[in-house]
Amino acid sequence: MRKKIVVGNWKMNNTVAESVTLATDVIEALGEGFSGCDVGLAPTYLALDAVGQVLEESDIQLVAQNCHYENDGAFTGEVSARMINAIGCSYVIIGHSERRQYFGETNATVNLRIKKALTEGLKVILCVGETLAERESGVTETVISTQVREGLEGISHIGAIVIAYEPVWAIGTGKTASSAQADEVHLFIRTIIGELYGEPAFRLVRIQYGGSVKPSNAAELFAMPNIDGGLIGGASLNAEDFAAIIHAASVSYVLPRYWDSERALCPGPKIGFPLAKSAPWAAILWEIIPSRTSFLSGRPRCSFGVT
Ligand code: PEP
Repeated sequence: MRKKIVVGNWKMNNTVAESVTLATDVIEALGEGFSGCDVGLAPTYLALDAVGQVLEESDIQLVAQNCHYENDGAFTGEVSARMINAIGCSYVIIGHSERRQYFGETNATVNLRIKKALTEGLKVILCVGETLAERESGVTETVISTQVREGLEGISHIGAIVIAYEPVWAIGTGKTASSAQADEVHLFIRTIIGELYGEPAFRLVRIQYGGSVKPSNAAELFAMPNIDGGLIGGASLNAEDFAAIIHAASVSYVLPRYWDSERALCPGPKIGFPLAKSAPWAAILWEIIPSRTSFLSGRPRCSFGVT
């Protein structure tokens, strides 16, 4: 079962002092209620140290918004994975659409950055997503497939990677992909991961959704079987809103898999559904049966390309 992950991407917002205040407010707004969900904050590079100190006593992870693919050298304005690791980050966001759109990031440079980040022991949030023009011309799957395959080219350590599906047309625009639209692309990505890395990765890789997530739509998005949390821009700049989104992820970590099992990722043999529908505890037992091969039917519980 996948634990949801919610990360606030503060982008180029907040001074160091403002970042410290916001991080403190997030911790306070969360209280004790988010243990069912991984949480991260990605302030500007300048504030990583100070925010890291604020987060020390919490379970919130420090996240960087990007990193370069060289350790050191003549790359004015850049920050390396080695530096990010040294300052205490556990995750780094790579390939955000704003990096691709405004700073010439390509799948090839994304791939180099991921490799270097992994070498430095960082976990990576790889962002992918189609533009509105691409969606409207029917090439969403081609674009996403290329971004995932080329971004991950030559990388074996999929366990250290979270993928963020962020339709570019939904980022900062107030437009959100419908939960069904998003889930369809998430399943598509999951299927590619399965092809590249095998069935355990198909089941276990976490795929966040990003694009105008807010308290009012978070619960519906996070209830979808293939949506494992969110990468949150605008709404993460408000502590109360961000905390509400995290709470939505914490709740949906447990409930929908068992109470709404007809939408679950891996439909079990026919007997699994009636059991799951009529008795949530039976579904929970079903989930924790150690072997992926059902002892009732002898068929694998998950197959690729399940829709
Ligand atoms: C983002 O920048 O990753 C993002 C999803 O932004 P927003 O939530 O503001 O759409």
